[in-house]
Amino acid sequence: MKNEFDIAVMPGDGIGQEITRPSFDLVADVASEFGVKLTYTEIEAGADLYRRTGESFPEENFIRAKQADAIYLAAMGLPNVRYPDGTEIGPQHDLRKRLELYAGVRPCITMPGLPLPLIDERSKALNFVIVRESTEGIFAYPRSHELDSHEAAYNLIKITRRISEKLFDYSFSLAQRRKSKGTRGLVTCIDKANVLSSMFFFRSIFNEVKEHYPEISTEYMYVDAAALNLIRRPWEFDVCPVENQFGDILSDEAAALMGGMGMSPSGEIGDDNAVFQPCHGSAPDIAGKGIANPTGMILSGAMMLDYLGTKFSNDAAIQASETLIEAVKSAYRTKKLLPYELGGSSGTAEIFGLVNKALEKD
Ligand code: ATP
Ligand code: MG
Repeated sequence: MKNEFDIAVMPGDGIGQEITRPSFDLVADVASEFGVKLTYTEIEAGADLYRRTGESFPEENFIRAKQADAIYLAAMGLPNVRYPDGTEIGPQHDLRKRLELYAGVRPCITMPGLPLPLIDERSKALNFVIVRESTEGIFAYPRSHELDSHEAAYNLIKITRRISEKLFDYSFSLAQRRKSKGTRGLVTCIDKANVLSSMFFFRSIFNEVKEHYPEISTEYMYVDAAALNLIRRPWEFDVCPVENQFGDILSDEAAALMGGMGMSPSGEIGDDNAVFQPCHGSAPDIAGKGIANPTGMILSGAMMLDYLGTKFSNDAAIQASETLIEAVKSAYRTKKLLPYELGGSSGTAEIFGLVNKALEKD
């Protein structure tokens, strides 16, 4: 059984520099407690590198990252460092596109003891996953089709059978696995099939794939209704596959339900590669102040352990993942933690400190 994993790590820009390194250490330490060895190779990429060298993601660095069993990073890019065409630097987007990481997995799990936006008690124990298609949809063609026109601008929505099948297969397999651990076994197809033909096609492929998973319940929801229900009754969701841009928006809404961008983890998963990173960006407005919330980064590390354990049939890695998530929950359960973004004064070091302390107790 594979017990040693090659992990490419990228420290990122802005607050990435502050939250990544302690997370790398924390995740490797928890893994090693379970006899799982993570070997990190640090890879340079991002806005800071671009400023220094004129390159944001050298090809040899991309190739090295691609060879790894998983990639663990924090967002890259800074608003004032841009390519000559004005677009932002984002090696994480290059990875997503070039490695075909179609499943953007965004769990919404609430931590105990935090003041959260919804008052209903059930919102204190949310546990659902948005699976955002991350390679096509309306972001497939970000440049306008009437670039030189002063009269109009168009974008196209791309939905392919090949990627949609993979997205839904991933979502149903995830629902199966979650169901074995006690969730509802429900997949909600979120679309706009009543208005957009591309979304009608998306739903028709969903209908084909669901036939292979008879033990999983299904439902459909238009994206506008999904936005409403995420606030009205989020505890009823389980696994929600959705088009790229819709998923981009809904997953920020889900992050708000967890308490803020800094709480929210993600995995970008393809057939052969996977990237784990917090959902937030480089947040230059708070960089260097020691107040960035590393929770999403830590939980992304737990997702990586779960991915490695599942992919390589290594139960110890799955246990390490569960232990890390429980430690983060324990840290919050003490009610001593209130991150800055929730109006408190718990900084980066304090949050790491309490998570480490919770691990010692276990
Ligand atoms: P991107 O384009 O990469 O999504 P963005 O412009 O949406 O980036 P983010 O960096 O995701 O910006 O975050 C928006 C704001 O939320 C930040 O400016 C910051 O104030 C706050 N924020 C984001 N992440 C964190 C965090 N980990 N801890 C505390 N505050 C955060
Ligand atoms: Mg954003």
